[in-house]
Amino acid sequence: MSYVDEVIEEVVKQNPSEPEFHQAVREVLDSIRTVVEQNEEKFRRDALLERLVNPERQIKFRVPWIDDNGQVHVNTGYRVQFNSAIGPYKGGLRLHPSVNMGIIKFLGFEQVFKNSLTGLPIGGGKGGSDFDPKGKSDREVMAFCQSFMSELCKYIGADTDVPAGDIGTGAREIGYMFGQYKKLRGLFEGVLTGKGLSYGGSLVRTEATGYGLLYITEELMKCHGYGMAGKTVVISGAGNVAIYAAEKAGQMGAKVVTCSDSNGWVYDPAGIDVAALKEIKEVKRQRLTEYKKYRPDSEYHEGRGVWSVKCDIALPCATQNELDLEDAKTLVSNGVTAVCEGANMPTTLEATKYLQDNGVYFVPGKAANAGGVATSALEMSQNSERLSWTFEKVDSELKGIMTRLYHNIDDAAKRYGCEGNYVVGANIAGFEKVVDAMNAQGIV
Ligand code: NDP
Repeated sequence: MSYVDEVIEEVVKQNPSEPEFHQAVREVLDSIRTVVEQNEEKFRRDALLERLVNPERQIKFRVPWIDDNGQVHVNTGYRVQFNSAIGPYKGGLRLHPSVNMGIIKFLGFEQVFKNSLTGLPIGGGKGGSDFDPKGKSDREVMAFCQSFMSELCKYIGADTDVPAGDIGTGAREIGYMFGQYKKLRGLFEGVLTGKGLSYGGSLVRTEATGYGLLYITEELMKCHGYGMAGKTVVISGAGNVAIYAAEKAGQMGAKVVTCSDSNGWVYDPAGIDVAALKEIKEVKRQRLTEYKKYRPDSEYHEGRGVWSVKCDIALPCATQNELDLEDAKTLVSNGVTAVCEGANMPTTLEATKYLQDNGVYFVPGKAANAGGVATSALEMSQNSERLSWTFEKVDSELKGIMTRLYHNIDDAAKRYGCEGNYVVGANIAGFEKVVDAMNAQGIV
């Protein structure tokens, strides 16, 4: 059995009931096979792959909090500090009932390569809790965030581990967590990113993942002879990534015709009204059923279905495994040109393969959504130098990072004879830098 297959088998055996983690490991290791085979003897002796797939540290803790009726609840908190070879651990905190150790490990593993691809000095980590902020009062969310941070603060710091937002963790949650960290540790430091602008946040961080997704999509399309203007774009999700992806796509002259949440989806043939979407989701925290009140000619459908709409570009921006083989077949038969992942691992392995086999340009999340963490790293830089950069400066840094990232993964794919396979390109380019740093630092 090859070294890669041995390690995949071992991961499945040692981490039962963690299918998302198995999926992420399989995707990465499968696509770096050639690199591993060329160095097999050394990698085996150094147990390089075993060190890569085992997090440096996994933290799991109790989070008790009191609701508005005086009832105590207990959630579980997680932080997985996966790999610090190239910098302090960096990665978001997900608050969603589906969170468990396997989900956090898959996200942390992906984050290692994503952060490497940004070209910035950040290692990989991820955390979160099975707490659901939906339907909770502000006071309840604050109670949870304070309890969560009371434990998490023992393991993080501006130079050790810097969490950020993710599903369910927006500016409100980051604010409450930052306040509690400051109170307990007595430090006003850049320990979290995605902070409000009045206390150390960076301009463009809110927009960064969605904008970055569109910058890399634009570069991809340009390099294949297409422009963005006039293209029809289908987006899933209606959260932070989806909203700002839709905004930037509109600014580029493309038309975004769908969005979705976990209950249903919207089709707006005239183009999604981003201002209405922001009001519904960011201000009023309502469901997408409200959208029709702003746009009477739009359609609302229960369940899932955005991938059935004919488009040139599909951008999955909600959650993992939301685009499956059947969806991929529909997109291909509708003539899709490109699929770029705004969410983490939204496309199943079978769907990814089908898209690639059918000539669709496919950019995986670890490259396509890296704009968020890249801008978080820019927030860390600003915090360290006690300065705030202008919107234009951060935005132009972000655009430069995403453009270079595209060419980095494109070149890596070409170097290994897999031109146009951006999954291979992203995994190899991310892997090479991390491995180089791990080798330089010895067995630690
Ligand atoms: P938000 O919480 O802001 O939005 C998530 C959106 O996806 C909501 O519309 C939500 O609907 C929907 N959604 C979540 N879970 C499910 C589900 N199980 N089924 C169907 N729909 C679902 O999160 P973000 O926009 O920040 O994150 C979206 C994705 O992008 C995630 O995969 C995240 O890891 C990834 N990402 C985010 C980054 C960031 O900077 N925010 C950076 C890089 C990646 P509802 O409200 O009904 O739950």
